[in-house]
Amino acid sequence: MTTLVTGGAGFIGSHLVDYVLAETADDVIVFDDFSTGRSGNLDHLDDDRVQVREGDVRDAESVRAAVEDATVVYHLAAAVGVQNVVENPLSSLRTNLAGTENVLDAAAETGTPTFVASSSEVYGKSPDVPFSEDDDRVIGPTSTTRWGYATAKAADEFLALAYHEEVDLPVVVGRFFNIVGPRQSGRYGMVIPTFVEQALAGDPLTVYGDGTQTRSFTHVEDAVRAVYELTNTTSAHGDVFNVGEPEPTSINDLARRVVDLTGSDAEITHVPFEEVYGPDFEEPDRREPDVTKLRETIGWAPEADLDRILRDVIEARSEREVRIDA
Ligand code: UDP
Repeated sequence: MTTLVTGGAGFIGSHLVDYVLAETADDVIVFDDFSTGRSGNLDHLDDDRVQVREGDVRDAESVRAAVEDATVVYHLAAAVGVQNVVENPLSSLRTNLAGTENVLDAAAETGTPTFVASSSEVYGKSPDVPFSEDDDRVIGPTSTTRWGYATAKAADEFLALAYHEEVDLPVVVGRFFNIVGPRQSGRYGMVIPTFVEQALAGDPLTVYGDGTQTRSFTHVEDAVRAVYELTNTTSAHGDVFNVGEPEPTSINDLARRVVDLTGSDAEITHVPFEEVYGPDFEEPDRREPDVTKLRETIGWAPEADLDRILRDVIEARSEREVRIDA
């Protein structure tokens, strides 16, 4: 048996690779273009079951070749990070649209079970929290770049569901809610690695807006367990699932927890959204998943709370510093 993980050198992908190696006897193909993925995310692996293929999901031929060699596909390759998506709209859209189409086309030829990563961003700025999978989506105008990401991910979902409906592809979609943990990079604006770096450097923590917006931070290890179980549960196929910690945290509280847990004396500052993302930026205020469906289908509940997440991130960063200094 061979597991293919597109985006396997990325943050979530590399944790999924760890999980599959630990839980199964499968060989693993990592397919990644190393744009936002990093070989450092795989450095800890010393396993001859892992094969790394450098490739772009927009290239249908190399995707097909990788899918042909696999018995299950986890499609996690995507352009991610609000900052990245806002700054590079064209390549982000092409990766998130054509990439998923290529993976599903290839998987449909062989009937290979496939997981498609989607995002809580598809709910847009809907105020009706918590979000259930069948809720309406509230997406802003096409002139606001951010919503291109939400729209591309929603198109990926439509495509996945259509493949299930029309050609019986065993496919399942997971909507990720702010997945965080060790190895996540702060380069694309993600808040937890950014705050932890700032606190450890003694720099001010940059809370955007008034900081009352909330997010449901989910430990990556809880997320990859859900991804694996969903993909290997036949009754989940042809369906969409929220994957996220139901308990929300405001960004102000998050900043305070990071300062406490790092023992930093860094200040907390507030920065207007326009200063960071330009005019016309829109921000979902609250984002909370209803995970009833996930719990009922695979018996999932998150194991890690916010403090455990932050301790893991801080510890992993300190270990990395020690390795770099050595
Ligand atoms: N954020 C912040 N300071 C930062 C980076 C992000 O206050 O340095 C906020 C951001 O505006 C959002 C939340 O933290 O409200 C989560 O941001 P992230 O980019 O991690 O994920 P998003 O939920 O926006 O996809």
